[in-house]
Amino acid sequence: MSRFFSAARAALVPYTPGEQPKDMRYIKLNTNESPFPPSEKAQKMAAEAASFLQLYPDPTCSALHKALADLYGLAPEEVLCTNGSDEILNFAFMAFCDAKTPAVFADITYGFYEVFADLHGVPYQKKPLCEDFSINIEDYCQNNATIFLANPNAPTGIALKREQIERILQANPDHVVVIDEAYVDFGAESCVPLVRAYDNLLVTQTFSKSRSMAGARLGCGIASRALIADLNTIKYATNPYNINAMTMAAGLGVLADEAYTQKNCKAIIENRVYMTAELQKLGFTVIPSSTNFVFAAHKQVPGSEIYRRLRENGILVRHFDNPRITAYNRITIGTRADMETLAATMRKILEETL
Ligand code: PMP
Repeated sequence: MSRFFSAARAALVPYTPGEQPKDMRYIKLNTNESPFPPSEKAQKMAAEAASFLQLYPDPTCSALHKALADLYGLAPEEVLCTNGSDEILNFAFMAFCDAKTPAVFADITYGFYEVFADLHGVPYQKKPLCEDFSINIEDYCQNNATIFLANPNAPTGIALKREQIERILQANPDHVVVIDEAYVDFGAESCVPLVRAYDNLLVTQTFSKSRSMAGARLGCGIASRALIADLNTIKYATNPYNINAMTMAAGLGVLADEAYTQKNCKAIIENRVYMTAELQKLGFTVIPSSTNFVFAAHKQVPGSEIYRRLRENGILVRHFDNPRITAYNRITIGTRADMETLAATMRKILEETL
């Protein structure tokens, strides 16, 4: 730390992204990326946009907002695209939380909520998940706070039903409820159809997972016009050109190729069913997942050992340094070939270990 670093930030513990090692070729199952390339339309449109990079991108993102709004049957004023969904979450902390409006989120959830709260000096309360990692709805009904819920949750993969989230929305009419739908396309119910019914609902989504565009950094918020206007104030106060021209073009391309996205989601769900069964056969407890990853713990072998042995064998998964989930690894669902290699490698490791 330099002697110039703000005292207010000195204790900040930043988010730790999953490893992107370059020492050898791994089967990468550690950051929930898609194993499939981006839509060809997205690639082509991004390449075309490269010829105009001397110009600033459209700060209003008008074409992209219209395409997204059309997909959901909403108005462009009800959506806002951002540099990954991390940015819309950051904007939400800035717009809807402060010293007097704390944040509430689960003890086991997306790690960035705590980082954003700390960054912005927002007080927060963590609600412990139940023993089986499910969310107790009542925990989110009595707070004078902005609520952040990942649905499905990460890294557990468990989804709430839309009606359960409606109960939370109804119990918090004077506070914003942020539903982070990064993984919703892999089998959960989206709350987008509720945005016109609840003026306190902000749904966030990403193009990083089901749309194979993690490297392009594109996310969005979907909410009432008033909430989107607030988020736009934050955007224009931080980075008006937050979406670069190539990403904007790629986003338009993938939205014009919904069949490709749907086909990939279907393949991931099929591979998840396969992988869950294989892991169970090998003695793993696998939490029922509605996402593109599974959260699995072996009954005899510690999570850190599984992580280490897989890494030695060229497979990267994600192990979290949190005592409550130390037995588990979060394993991204990849291609069928990747899943078959994982199953065979896991079998070999267990034979060597047990
Ligand atoms: N929410 C959750 C629950 C996530 O797991 C992630 C991915 N790390 C994000 C949001 C952010 O994704 P991105 O910024 O790539 O849209």
